[in-house]
Amino acid sequence: MLNKQQIRHCLDTFEEMFPEAECELTHSNPFELLVAVVLSAQATDALVNKVTPQLFEKYKKPEDYIAVPLEELQNDIKRIGLYRNKAKNIKKLSETLVEKFNGEVPPTKKELESLAGVGRKTANVVASVAFDEPAIAVDTHVERVSKRLAFCRWKDSVLEVEKTLMRKIPVEEWSVTHHRMIFFGRYHCKAQRPNCEECPLLFLCREGQKRMKKKEKSQ
Ligand code: SF4
Repeated sequence: MLNKQQIRHCLDTFEEMFPEAECELTHSNPFELLVAVVLSAQATDALVNKVTPQLFEKYKKPEDYIAVPLEELQNDIKRIGLYRNKAKNIKKLSETLVEKFNGEVPPTKKELESLAGVGRKTANVVASVAFDEPAIAVDTHVERVSKRLAFCRWKDSVLEVEKTLMRKIPVEEWSVTHHRMIFFGRYHCKAQRPNCEECPLLFLCREGQKRMKKKEKSQ
C-alpha cells in the first residue's frame, strides 16, 4: 500500500487536475440535495440532473411528496433506475422529516441515516455538501481509485475503504478529496478505460503499470 508521502503526492495531484471538483448534482437547498442523492443510487448524476428540474419545480417541500399518490411520483421519476423503490423511500423519508425533524433535513450523519433510503454514503454526501461536515462518501469512483492506487487493499469492503481513507487523509481534506477522487475516477481513471498512458500517477500505480505492460505485449 502507498505510504504517507505517496498519498500526499496523490492528493496534490488530484487537486492540480481537478481544483474545482464539487458535487455535480443540481440542487438549491439541503432537501433537494437529499432527494437528488437518493435518486442517484446506481444512476449517473447526469441522468438525475435531467429529471430533477421538473421534479423540484413540482415538489418543493416534504409535504408535497407526502400528498402525491405513489404511482404519480413513480411516474415522475421513472427514467431513473429503481424508481419504484426510490419513490417509496422519498415519500417515507418526507414523512419522517415532517414527523421528527420539523420538515427540515437534519445535519448529522446519524440522523440522516435514520431516513428511508439513506445509507452511509448518502448521509456522508448530504452532511458534507449541505452542512460542511467532514466526510468521505465512498461511491464506485472513490472505491475504484482507492483500490487501483493502493490507498487500501483490493479485498476491502466499502466501509473499510472509508475508514482507511479517514485514517490516511487529514480530516480538513476529507470532503474536498472525496469530490476530487470522484472527478479523477469519472473523467480520468475510468472503470473501463483508465487513461494510464497520460496519468501523472502512473509511476506509483501498480495497477496502471500492469495495464500498460499488458497493452505493450498485445501490440
Ligand atoms: S495509472 Fe491508470 S489505473 Fe493508475 S491511477 Fe492512473 S489512470 Fe488509474
